[in-house]
Amino acid sequence: MNFIETRGNDGIHPLKVTFSEAILSPIASFGGLYVPETLPQLGLEFLQRHRHSHYKELARDFLHVFNIDVEGHVIDDALALYDAFDDPKNPVPVVKVKDDLYVSELYHGPTRAFKDMALQPFGKVLSAIAQARNENYLVLAATSGDTGPAALETFKNQTNVKVVCLYPAHGTSDVQRLQMVTEAAPNLKVIGIQGNFDDAQNALKMLLASTSFKQTLQTKNIALSAANSVNFGRIIFQIIYHIHSYLELVRHDVIDMGETVYLNVPSGNFGNVLGAFYAMQMGLPVEKLVIASNENNILTRFIRTGVYDMRESELILTTSPAMDILKSSNVERVLYALYGADRTRELMHELDTSKVYRLTEEELCKLQAVFAADYCSDDEGKAYIKEAFESGYLMDPHTATCFKTYETCREKDLVMIAYSTAEWTKFSPTIANALTGEEDAHDSVALASISKAAKVPIPTMIETLFTKKVVHTTVIEKENIEAEILSFI
Ligand SMILES: *Cc1c(COP(=O)(O)O)cnc(C)c1O
Repeated sequence: MNFIETRGNDGIHPLKVTFSEAILSPIASFGGLYVPETLPQLGLEFLQRHRHSHYKELARDFLHVFNIDVEGHVIDDALALYDAFDDPKNPVPVVKVKDDLYVSELYHGPTRAFKDMALQPFGKVLSAIAQARNENYLVLAATSGDTGPAALETFKNQTNVKVVCLYPAHGTSDVQRLQMVTEAAPNLKVIGIQGNFDDAQNALKMLLASTSFKQTLQTKNIALSAANSVNFGRIIFQIIYHIHSYLELVRHDVIDMGETVYLNVPSGNFGNVLGAFYAMQMGLPVEKLVIASNENNILTRFIRTGVYDMRESELILTTSPAMDILKSSNVERVLYALYGADRTRELMHELDTSKVYRLTEEELCKLQAVFAADYCSDDEGKAYIKEAFESGYLMDPHTATCFKTYETCREKDLVMIAYSTAEWTKFSPTIANALTGEEDAHDSVALASISKAAKVPIPTMIETLFTKKVVHTTVIEKENIEAEILSFI
């Protein structure tokens, strides 16, 4: 399988690259992204064959169909990391919440958010490729709070890779921040910036595109990569659990093989739902992909009107911070799949220059044939958290946004799979507030009160965070990021 570029080729980048090349150097011509040249068709036969497969068997076979240039033993080592999830037999449990609503829990890995699903194996694969090539990489990660911990966890102490993680200094929960600033390993650097997630992500994209920065790194024999979902190395692992979740419903006799379902995804940078989009294009029986957002509702407006408009929008800080984003990077890969490279380049250029682009009627029709969308306010989210808790389900504020779209986006009476992207432990003050009304509790207090009310233990990796030593104390203005990174290198 080769990879091509969402904005076409500039005559400088190669026309096609392998999977390893696409993940080592994820930014393509004109600032575009890499996408598979063709998508393999799985068909019902593949699903039938995996009706009873363990997650790792499904994943191994799926990656085989994709035919990537990564050796079998590396893939096996990477997938073995799922054995350290809560239930090694099933890293992604799918739980019934209502007769026609099931929640696929993607947070049972080491850092308690869905980012582990892809970053765990991705870290292994990237380090193995760097070692095999005898090359050194600097991996940049911009995070709103969950990518950072997951990237640090997967790359710590790996040879041939250094990681710099940029997070908004005042934009994460205590738990998320502690997960990063207490992660001690000589190859890791964590930098807080005075700004929001879009600022962190823009800084990252600028560095990835900067020739002078790359040249400076080159003099030290270091190449540059990224751990954000612009990297296809993450997306590929994010297709698999959508297929697994569907098969779980078949296994539990909730649906018949071949029956269509709704997939309902709390979305920010669009990487999770992009995995679902590819699964659908590869033949998974999906009625529609439902996008759940918070009050930063740019995706809802886009899917309803075909206008992606950042002109009037100010980023709002919500209780689901992983979805506080205006420029959602992976939409570009959908534009490419639906409208081709020339049109994608045109649209992305419009967004860069005038902060807005408009689809034609016909293009909008194509988009709406696949996606539906709505958004959920913080107050609505808290009400859903409380209601679900009272009927026995504890969930985080990101997952809660899907309960709104469950109510508003189903046109047909079909089963819906919603995705839970974080454990309650990562956003406990909001949940405690929803359940008991207590205001401004610190994470440590909120964790204890929810644990008691719900009779669930606090996982050790969260509990021990509060006594671990803080090793990363750097907080800087965004103008100083490049210099700070160079001083670490
Ligand atoms: C990253 C994240 C999201 C958004 O996922 P995207 O792939 O960026 O759309 C949603 N919820 C949580 C908890 C996350 O960490």
